[in-house]
Amino acid sequence: MWLTGRLFDPERGFVRGRLRVEGQVILDRVEEDRAPGEDYILPGFTDLHFHGCAGADASDGTPEALARLADYQLSRGVTQICPAVMTLPRAGLSAACRAAAHHAAHAQARGAELVGLNLEGPFLAPEKRGAQRVDWLQRPDLGLLAELAAASGGLVKLVTVAPELEGALDFIRGARALCRVSVGHTAADYDTALAAFAVGAEQVTHLFNAMPPFHHRRPGVIGAVADSPGVACELIADGVHVHPAAVRAAFRLLGPERVILISDSMRAAGLGDGTYDLGGQAVTVENGRATGPDGALAGSCVDLMECLRRAVSFGVPLAHAVTAAAVNPARALGIYDRFGSLDRGRAANLAILDGDLTLKAVVFRGEVVHGAL
Ligand SMILES: [Zn+2]
Repeated sequence: MWLTGRLFDPERGFVRGRLRVEGQVILDRVEEDRAPGEDYILPGFTDLHFHGCAGADASDGTPEALARLADYQLSRGVTQICPAVMTLPRAGLSAACRAAAHHAAHAQARGAELVGLNLEGPFLAPEKRGAQRVDWLQRPDLGLLAELAAASGGLVKLVTVAPELEGALDFIRGARALCRVSVGHTAADYDTALAAFAVGAEQVTHLFNAMPPFHHRRPGVIGAVADSPGVACELIADGVHVHPAAVRAAFRLLGPERVILISDSMRAAGLGDGTYDLGGQAVTVENGRATGPDGALAGSCVDLMECLRRAVSFGVPLAHAVTAAAVNPARALGIYDRFGSLDRGRAANLAILDGDLTLKAVVFRGEVVHGAL
């Protein structure tokens, strides 16, 4: 099958040309100034921080829930997923990890490719817990992380930690052998955040949310990120969690190569307003805004494709937004050699958008699985 239109290129934005898909891979890519068509041909996105959608949540700890959210994500052009587990008691964390291992072991599992699991909790600061249950938070515990990594069959790819907690720096040093470490849900000051990056943390969990704001005398995590070129930052561009001006500022401050767009969606995504469970707490969704019992924002109700559209509506160039939704998360998870690029030999997982950025078709493992070309 040949696809024609505007092909995404991480260095040059978009180039006109044709893409040849054969079997499950991209077989050829031909640039051609006069290639017809206004469609944007993008590598399928990777969402590395979302909890649920379509009524299911990774924290449910069942293979059925994973199948459901994988299906929904694929229908939105998110062809690779790394769902995030909330703060739960040990047994709940363990069940979520086992469910992921079970899902991955079934070759015929439907939906987006499960490329990892993200442990957002439980090693978080109580005062910056957001919508996570305070009584289930724990001190950083390398033994628990190793246990969960084993239960997941090696699928745990990310863990969030608040670096000011007792033992956090040693935890980061040890955790690096198991997965990538992200700093978040934290009240850390500038120096503590820098110390976390110095011992191996490489990412920040939803920049701006669940951390102190940037202050000119107390620059905090945001100031530390500005001084740490190797650190990538997750960003929720739903227009609810982060103001459009702050989304633009983040892209300018970090450059498009350091922003990872995430949806941080909860199970209401794809459904309507109502009351839902999130990590053992009731969450109310009103006009697409989810809040927990104490009024804290509790995840988003949109998918990553919609976050991309909103980022573009805020003024982020489309190519930068695609870099942040397709390239950077794949790099962060160490899967960029297979996903997130239109280069020859990469997986034929694609999202085709028309000129208005409406999702026209999703190609997964070389086949059109949603929409039509
Ligand atoms: Zn969070």
